[in-house]
Amino acid sequence: MPSIDALADRLSAYLGPDQVNLVRRAYFYAEQAHDGQRRRSGEPYVTHPLAVANILADMHMDHQSLMAAMLHDVIEDTGIAKEALVAQFGETVADLVDGVSKLTQMNFETKAEAQAENFQKMAMAMARDIRVILVKLADRLHNMRTLEVLSGEKRRRIAKETLEIYAPIANRLGMHSIRIEFEDLGFKAMYPMRSARIYQAVKRARGNRKEIVNKIEESLSHCLAIDGIQGEVSGRQKHIYGIYKKMRGKRRAFNEIMDVYAFRIIVDKVDTCYRVLGAVHNLYKPLPGRFKDYIAIPKANGYQSLHTTLFGMHGVPIEIQIRTREMEEMANNGIAAHWLYKSSGDEQHTGTHARARQWVKGVLEMQQRAGNSLEFIESVKIDLFPDEVYVFTPKGRIMELPKGSTAVDFAYAVHTDVGNSCIACRINRRLAPLSEPLQSGSTVEIVSAPGARPNPAWLNFVVTGKARTHIRHALKLQRRSESVNLGERLLNKVLNGFNSALEKIPAERIQAMLQEYRLEQIEDLLEDIGLGNRMAYVVARRLLGEGEALPSPEGPLAIRGTEGLVLSYAKCCTPIPGDPIVGHLSAGKGMVVHLDNCRNISEIRHNPEKCIQLSWAKDVTGEFNVELRVELEHQRGLIALLASSVNAADGNIEKISMDERDGRISVVQLVVSVHDRVHLARVIKKLRALTGVIRITRMRA
Ligand code: MN
Repeated sequence: MPSIDALADRLSAYLGPDQVNLVRRAYFYAEQAHDGQRRRSGEPYVTHPLAVANILADMHMDHQSLMAAMLHDVIEDTGIAKEALVAQFGETVADLVDGVSKLTQMNFETKAEAQAENFQKMAMAMARDIRVILVKLADRLHNMRTLEVLSGEKRRRIAKETLEIYAPIANRLGMHSIRIEFEDLGFKAMYPMRSARIYQAVKRARGNRKEIVNKIEESLSHCLAIDGIQGEVSGRQKHIYGIYKKMRGKRRAFNEIMDVYAFRIIVDKVDTCYRVLGAVHNLYKPLPGRFKDYIAIPKANGYQSLHTTLFGMHGVPIEIQIRTREMEEMANNGIAAHWLYKSSGDEQHTGTHARARQWVKGVLEMQQRAGNSLEFIESVKIDLFPDEVYVFTPKGRIMELPKGSTAVDFAYAVHTDVGNSCIACRINRRLAPLSEPLQSGSTVEIVSAPGARPNPAWLNFVVTGKARTHIRHALKLQRRSESVNLGERLLNKVLNGFNSALEKIPAERIQAMLQEYRLEQIEDLLEDIGLGNRMAYVVARRLLGEGEALPSPEGPLAIRGTEGLVLSYAKCCTPIPGDPIVGHLSAGKGMVVHLDNCRNISEIRHNPEKCIQLSWAKDVTGEFNVELRVELEHQRGLIALLASSVNAADGNIEKISMDERDGRISVVQLVVSVHDRVHLARVIKKLRALTGVIRITRMRA
């Protein structure tokens, strides 16, 4: 049975004594934390983390990964908080443990199979430190090795998840050995009969072929020796799941697959690989079209090797892989291989992610040198430096979004209608602001309301093109219908002044006018008027005929508060219902409502082409902001007093700020939202009733 002492012995081969001691400490901590817990097999629970650490030690992983391996189930299974681990073992190790726990909590079971690839990506994106993935892979490997004790159903579930998620991740990271073991163990658990049958067949075939294999091996070695090449020739065994996949995928018979003899030749340098290639092509004829140079053009996960197939004696096909020792290491352990070649000197400042970066950089360089596609960048690099977030819909579907995406981006990604009618969101079941950037692994639920419309403010925080385009489009449509509406009212109002109306104007007349203005339809003209690009007054006179006299004094246009995007209230004088008002039409922006006596419009006040007389409709709706300045004697808790007075009058404080003038008098600026002047008067009355209030002024420019 493995023990911590045995592991410590192995570790001292490549770690310093201090680091080995830290790993020991983590072990004893885990032993205590899991005290009393047992594995299904009956062994004390701590044997599992110890075994996981042993797997990582095989890969020569660093001490922090080993510590995390010892502690990887502590947060999940013993109720010890992450903070406790931070205090004991530092931030980095605690983060690793936390990351592994989060991955463990992700439940693949309920997710659709088609999502497997996204799920892999999500797992990678969630692990900010690549070592989290490596610890998780080791954890899964030990669980797979000890799968027999579990019930059939649970065994199949874990095996399925391993085949669909973890084996591909191992493959992406170039960790061939782990991938092969995942696949064979997973296959065995999923299809025990098929696996056993293939296993038996392989064993039989191997016995029969022993003689041939030895012969080929000898002749290959001999051929290298003649050319004076140092190389190691070995027979290669195909793994069970690989054979099964070939039989299924390529519809080949077992014998066809097994009739191929596979060898590997390991040498010291890259150019020796090509010399070996020449030598073996000289020995047996190569099969045309089967030669692949993965040294010049590495595979997406960084795999490098020469592959060729030869016609051996009596025509038996011989598959040969030729590579250097370093490539062999890389082929077996992938990203983990980089922990093997570490120099103790630069250990500190290479940091957590640095090695993974190094690996990616190395592979990228290989790819660039080889000049092949950037497929690799799209797979592994993005996974290691995520530019994407992966979130769940409430039904468990995974959505991929660019980093920084918000719930609004999510809503539009689900469906345009969902985006357009979205009003709020829940992230992990909690209400959250629509502008909050999403994190990988969250579940996002959109709250929508029929008839709701996109908010122009969303444009400030959405990041996806889709959301942006659709918000703009929806706003444009909305603006169009609102400005057509306002335009019609403006035009009719002027026409009414001439005792006419739009319906009474002959169609030819309107047509002629549209032609003159180069417009297609009457709505275009009305939109122009609503947006302030054309004056209703001018258009009305043209429609009635040039000769008409000036209109008799017209009644004002009534404002209902529902005009939407084409009508806004001036920030300088903040008019509210009940105030005398005037509308200023500015080209392209629609109408801005000012107070009648606002200083900003005093010069154009009586120009009928720029300003229009307005009144408030009886049924005007909405909340209107006014700014109040309250001078009062300084007293404790005065903000609370002001707030409760405003509240008592059904007003709402939108903003409050205070500049104290001296020790006795305070000046408070309030922005209060009210329905109208009567409501404002009630608010002011309540405020006046407070003791110590000296003066209240409504602020305007
Ligand atoms: Mn575990």
